[in-house]
Amino acid sequence: MTADASIEIAGAGPAGLAAAITLARAGRRVIVHEAQAEVGHRFKRDLQGLENWSTREDALAVLQAQGIAAGFRQLPCRQGTVFDAWGRAYSIRSDAPLFYMVERGSGPDTLDTALLHQARGLGVEVRFNSRLRQTQGPAVFATGPKAADAIAVGYHFDTPMPDGFWAICDDDIAPKGYAYLLVMGGKGTVKSCMFSGFKQEAVYVERTVAAFRRLVGLEMINPRPHGGVGNFRIPTTALSGMHAVAGEQAGFQDTLWGFGMRAAITSGVLAAHSLITGDDYDRRWRQALQGTMTTAVVNRALYSLLGNRGYRRLLRYLEHRPDIRALLYRHYRPSHVKHLLAPLARWRFHSQRRDESCNHIGCSCVWCRHGRGQHA
Ligand SMILES: Cc1cc2nc3c(=O)[nH]c(=O)nc-3n(C[C@H](O)[C@H](O)[C@H](O)COP(=O)(O)OP(=O)(O)OC[C@H]3O[C@@H](n4cnc5c(N)ncnc54)[C@H](O)[C@@H]3O)c2cc1C
Repeated sequence: MTADASIEIAGAGPAGLAAAITLARAGRRVIVHEAQAEVGHRFKRDLQGLENWSTREDALAVLQAQGIAAGFRQLPCRQGTVFDAWGRAYSIRSDAPLFYMVERGSGPDTLDTALLHQARGLGVEVRFNSRLRQTQGPAVFATGPKAADAIAVGYHFDTPMPDGFWAICDDDIAPKGYAYLLVMGGKGTVKSCMFSGFKQEAVYVERTVAAFRRLVGLEMINPRPHGGVGNFRIPTTALSGMHAVAGEQAGFQDTLWGFGMRAAITSGVLAAHSLITGDDYDRRWRQALQGTMTTAVVNRALYSLLGNRGYRRLLRYLEHRPDIRALLYRHYRPSHVKHLLAPLARWRFHSQRRDESCNHIGCSCVWCRHGRGQHA
């Protein structure tokens, strides 16, 4: 690839914009195609957590080291409350932030807008309402999830509630997942994040809302329904032909709980570096992501065995830990035991995206069920 050839990126999500920023910082000409009319369209005003436990270094410091400016509003969250299925509250806390609450979508303070501004400031051209279907030259594909391995469904709303986070572990509310309530600056998100039982999503959402009303006095003003999917898989390769595939399109996610933003950004940065240096992208993402992703699959398999009594035992244990962040860091690290459990866990957890090899954009593979025009 010649240094002055422009590089096309499909998708202005965290993965695509992180790739664009990295390439532009290296002096490359970049065009980002975004199928929607704005950044973060599929999230609107969603509040999400930028997890701070998968690395020893602080998540914001890691972003900075990656060249990504944290110019978005963020709320450091050190302490919150998790309820079991019997309504008992467990307080969890950590010394450093467990996660940073951020807003997604196209608003002024969102993570997506901050990435967009940084990219544009570096000279990246972003074309909205532009769905990339085919490309001839160098490119990064970062078009988001292709199948639903988990869904998170609920509401966005305004609220007089104080900032904070609350969660519920109860399979009758969020099967094999968790329900959560996040509040920041008068805005709230309440969701049931479920890993099965999708057909009953409306029932679980209403149970989630009723439970948070009962347990913490949830107050929703002007509630708007919202939901989305997560796609988790460890790909055999994250190359589509010659092109790097980043973020959830490749399957890069946290299979345990769905905290995918950091893997999206990291993979976008790595995809860009591989274009700049000519390095093997597969080698790079395997070094950076495969260990924690495999551990997350094992953690998911173990978590899905717990059931309500198991969640209660887990919460009792967590409540007495002085520093949850340190504990989660250890549990996300590859270990000998988790390595041994990995084949069993992979057997238990099947990504809905069974087609492992086709990452194509607008592909014309006759055998591929992710073909032309199917991605929303
Ligand atoms: C409800 C919900 C809550 C979540 N909460 C959290 C959380 O708390 N913490 C966390 O870390 N993660 C969370 N996640 C996951 C996180 O949002 C994703 O992992 C992350 O956004 C993935 O980034 P991405 O860039 O890979 O994909 P996306 O953010 O999906 O971006 C892909 C972009 O590509 C565009 N696009 C698609 N096809 C084309 C095309 N052909 N051409 C051009 N553009 C195209 C799309 O419009 C989209 O804007 C949540 C997900 C959901 C659904």
